[in-house]
Amino acid sequence: MESIKIGKAKLAWLNGGVTHLDGGAMFGVVPRALWSKKYSVNADNQIELRTDPILLQVDGLNVLIDSGIGNDKLSEKQKKIFGVWEESNLTEELSTHSLTCEDIDIICMTHLHFDHACGLTKWKDGELVPAFPNAKIYTSEVEWNEMRNPNIRSVNTYWEDNWKPIVHQVHTFKEEAEIVEGLKMIHTSGHSDGHSILFFEDGDETFIHMADLMPTHAHQNILWALAYDDYPVTSVHQKEKWMNLGYRKGAWYTFYHDAYYRALKFDEKGNVIESLARPQSSYD
Ligand SMILES: [Zn+2]
Repeated sequence: MESIKIGKAKLAWLNGGVTHLDGGAMFGVVPRALWSKKYSVNADNQIELRTDPILLQVDGLNVLIDSGIGNDKLSEKQKKIFGVWEESNLTEELSTHSLTCEDIDIICMTHLHFDHACGLTKWKDGELVPAFPNAKIYTSEVEWNEMRNPNIRSVNTYWEDNWKPIVHQVHTFKEEAEIVEGLKMIHTSGHSDGHSILFFEDGDETFIHMADLMPTHAHQNILWALAYDDYPVTSVHQKEKWMNLGYRKGAWYTFYHDAYYRALKFDEKGNVIESLARPQSSYD
């Protein structure tokens, strides 16, 4: 799988499964005539969205960014609705880095929607148990509260199966948390009220993981917010802030959902100057 070195950090993408969601829902008020030029769409109006965690190795620690779609966590009906054509392959993928799930020290959860959090737990002898038993799991306090007490809309994506078994592993923060030296999680709200991004800096090398504020390269336009966003105007303001900063710094932007690019780097005007593509298999 693809990897990149940014300062002292090494990032590698792991196969965490895939979803295929309605393109219109992923681009909110943007007309299909515009978004379909930037991101490929199938006959059912679905777009391919990976759910690939990033393995971030820094200061001797193994950090995961989000957890993938998991295995056997969705019913056949849910798999059909969400276009889950492939589930997580994390154990095998970690083994190519000479790691096991027990070796993961930290998981940074940008938010806890099912397509990010299903991989946190797994089935063992008919019971759900932590998939990464030795990991500290970081998420914002607001996100953690909504996960455990969802409203009538968010109950569709915040599932008990994904939080009850991992309660003892969770560490929350209010505005931001320094995870390791140079790596911060920052609460933004927007996509969900408790949504966070990651910001990493080592010398003049930077990456920003916008998570679902910019789920794919096609969402670079700060006005292109998702219909799934609970607070779309907040998403737009947060994108404005973090895209402008990243453009000035020549930051890399990394993706969890993008089926075509793992990371992109932009110049001050927002033009792509470097990219790390995801190789396409023949059936894509
Ligand atoms: Zn997502």
